[in-house]
Amino acid sequence: MPDNLPESLIAIREDAQQFVDEVLVPLAKDIDNEDPVPQAIQEKVLRASKDAGFFYKTQPTEYGGNPAGSLELTMLRETWAASNCRLTPYVFGPGPGMLHAAEGDMKKNYLDPVMRGDKRGAFGFTEPDTAKRPTWAKIEGETLLINGQKSYVTGGATADFVSALVNVEHEDGRKAGTAMVIIDSDAAGVKIDREFSSLEGSGHVSMVFEDVRVPLGNVIGKLGEGMPRALGNIGNVRMMVSAQATGMCMWVLDFVEQHLLAPHRTGTPLGEREGVRIRYADMRIETYVARSALYRTARLVETGDNIVNETIATKVFCTETAGRVIDMAVQLVGGQALVRGHPLEKLYRQVRSLRLVEGASDLLRINLVKGKLELKKGKV
Ligand SMILES: Cc1cc2nc3c(=O)[nH]c(=O)nc-3n(C[C@H](O)[C@H](O)[C@H](O)COP(=O)(O)OP(=O)(O)OC[C@H]3O[C@@H](n4cnc5c(N)ncnc54)[C@H](O)[C@@H]3O)c2cc1C
Repeated sequence: MPDNLPESLIAIREDAQQFVDEVLVPLAKDIDNEDPVPQAIQEKVLRASKDAGFFYKTQPTEYGGNPAGSLELTMLRETWAASNCRLTPYVFGPGPGMLHAAEGDMKKNYLDPVMRGDKRGAFGFTEPDTAKRPTWAKIEGETLLINGQKSYVTGGATADFVSALVNVEHEDGRKAGTAMVIIDSDAAGVKIDREFSSLEGSGHVSMVFEDVRVPLGNVIGKLGEGMPRALGNIGNVRMMVSAQATGMCMWVLDFVEQHLLAPHRTGTPLGEREGVRIRYADMRIETYVARSALYRTARLVETGDNIVNETIATKVFCTETAGRVIDMAVQLVGGQALVRGHPLEKLYRQVRSLRLVEGASDLLRINLVKGKLELKKGKV
């Protein structure tokens, strides 16, 4: 097995699988596949997850958490995705994300309520192609005056605040670099100009900032640290996306195996045809290699080394593999797989966004080579 887990993590994986089978799957039976998950069900998952201890795995100890290391988190995230159960996003408690080092008012007003579950933040990075100028902020005394736009803010319609990347300049026009700034959703001058949903079903908004005033204390970290702050947690997030991708592959392999063994109208199960076996072999080979990369990188993360290039390689490979594996699964299952409501139809929609979120594949390729040629980073 590419994961090659120690005994202690194998036991946790068995507990996680039991949690899926005995808690999540029965709860998911009560909800229609296309409807939003009702609040009452989300709360049941949350309570059960607290009882089982999974809720605390993404939370720091000072908030009562029991944070898991990279290998354990990767294994759990892959296990959730391999269940293909729509309730798994509600299992882990909220993590601090880029607010992790917040102190003073920032901690009191944002980090603490986020960790209690009383507030929720969104992330504003992407800007429209039509933007005349990237979002900018002028320092005026103890405040920042912000103007600009963010075009793809997931969960922005219900978020209490958005952490936005801005270019800062001093009052005399000198540049002060980039900064990540917390902007309250209800601050004067914040407007949602469009609400939309993407192929896999998640909801987003496009936001405009017109003379929005925020205290200088709402800058996360220091002025000039915007880009490193925005990307500070990105390795963890890319590992999360990678584990989601290989988990999807695991579910698909089992699903296709059942299909290949089942009776077929021709009288011979599809799995008896060599041509079909070759396609299924490729799906298994690619999944095996992707999982090998995933678990190798999860272990590298735990060494504390600079593994930016390795997480890039893993994210690109795992998400592109999942795209090919799910595409081939649709091909082998045939037209039924594209009927609305079929699990492969849904996965086919879900997997597409993984090659764009947290770094579009080709941009990551460019960064990986930059890391090698210019910074001498990255292993093979
Ligand atoms: C489901 C979903 C959720 C998202 N959530 C958020 C969110 O919460 N917050 C947020 O800020 N953003 C979010 N995004 C936006 C996402 O981060 C961007 O879509 C992604 O970073 C790509 O940027 P872009 O769409 O502007 O495409 P572009 O940057 O315009 O790139 C489009 C394509 O052009 C090519 N390309 C671009 N530049 C180069 C280059 N230099 N060399 C070679 N090829 C190049 C690549 O093929 C690339 O895929 C989300 C997107 C999706 C799909």
